[in-house]
Amino acid sequence: MKPSHIEHIGIAVKNLDESIRYYEKVLGLECYNIEEIKDQKVKTAFFMVGDTKIELLESTDSEGPIGKFIEKRGEGIHHIAFAVQNIEDKLKHAEENGIRLIDSAPRKGAEGLDIAFLHPKSTFGVLTELCEDKNK
Ligand code: ZN
Repeated sequence: MKPSHIEHIGIAVKNLDESIRYYEKVLGLECYNIEEIKDQKVKTAFFMVGDTKIELLESTDSEGPIGKFIEKRGEGIHHIAFAVQNIEDKLKHAEENGIRLIDSAPRKGAEGLDIAFLHPKSTFGVLTELCEDKNK
């Protein structure tokens, strides 16, 4: 599969504004984008750290995936996203290796990336996202 880098780390938070303040004031990072993804029921905030982004995720609906995650496990790291090329092939490769796919085909995620998730039950507990920037 050989991802080029960790594209982002997704972190579930209860309050986007409060957590942005921590990343800006304490860590000295700059929030460069806030985006609501309606079909995922989340509001996201992005920070760049080298080649990797931090993606903060606040639920806009307690029934959404992030709302449920926080209810069950509290705030914290939600997923890791790897940057890949030819995401369709990489999904097929994962499936052929017995990995359970959450998305059998890529869909549009934040920042216009093509994304797909692998199920944490088959990736040793880490919700894993593959993403590809096809605009590059
Ligand atoms: Zn993500």
